[in-house]
Amino acid sequence: MADYPETILEFRDWFADEDKCREYLARVRWPDGFVCPRCQGREYWNMKRGLYWCRGCDYQTSVTAGTLFADSHKPLRLWFEAMRYVTNQKYGVSALGLKRVLGLGSYDTAWTWLHKLRRAMVRPGRDRLQGEIEVDETFVGGVRPGKRGRGAEGKTLVLIAAQAAQKGIGRIRLKQIEDASGATLESALLTMAEPGCRIRTDGWQGYTGLKALGYDHQVIRESKDVGENLLPLANRVAALIKRWLLGTHQGAVQFSHLDYYLDEYTFRFNRRTSRSRGLLFYRLIDQAVHLHPIQRVELTEKAAVDAKKSQESTG
Ligand SMILES: [Zn+2]
Repeated sequence: MADYPETILEFRDWFADEDKCREYLARVRWPDGFVCPRCQGREYWNMKRGLYWCRGCDYQTSVTAGTLFADSHKPLRLWFEAMRYVTNQKYGVSALGLKRVLGLGSYDTAWTWLHKLRRAMVRPGRDRLQGEIEVDETFVGGVRPGKRGRGAEGKTLVLIAAQAAQKGIGRIRLKQIEDASGATLESALLTMAEPGCRIRTDGWQGYTGLKALGYDHQVIRESKDVGENLLPLANRVAALIKRWLLGTHQGAVQFSHLDYYLDEYTFRFNRRTSRSRGLLFYRLIDQAVHLHPIQRVELTEKAAVDAKKSQESTG
């Protein structure tokens, strides 16, 4: 069962010191008690500073090892504040905003933290959308309208899958794609929507192979009924992400980072009706301590992060 603080005072009580933060992480990471990451043993000795000593294989580990919080020399309390802040801002946060709120010494630290948290917002092997889904591509960035089927200068193409709900849009999936060719669209879509579901698109030739992949493909053509607004849900999502990128991030997102931003947007959007910010905080922490091995590798690729960082801080 998810348990998390609801109010700011509860939050400050629950996470008043490092021990309390570590205990909470342990509860989320090992809900049925400690499990040795090496031998899966459950017997351990408690050591100083939150270290665990496995009685089965003598392995020493901590609750943060192998999680997003590994190798951080900053207090967990600060991380918890960062996650609270990030999940309480409806429209997302900038590195500068995080730096100010946490009183971090450097912009680089704030930037790195935000990127780590964005990676925790992707649920590895997350389920694909089901039901009725509108699919469309949209260009992000640049000033001139792009041409379909090939890249346009200063722009990047984003594939949108928007699930139809009783009232408007259900959940979404977003993915940066290289072009709007059939091969690209098909392989992207297979990661976003479950075969068998109904996919609505416009008449673009790149979508003709969807039936062969097992989708119930429905082509919406311009008519009296729909006018030019063939795919209202996908169009709405396209408008929202463009506004979000311009508003929260002043349009300053590098294409090489766009996928992380799209993940952050998806995380927020798909949980937008969740009334509890506390639950959102819990989900983020849950994903941060259960990182997929691939995400862990990415996080330790410090060189790559540093390269991106210097790129962005100059931009
Ligand atoms: Zn062990």
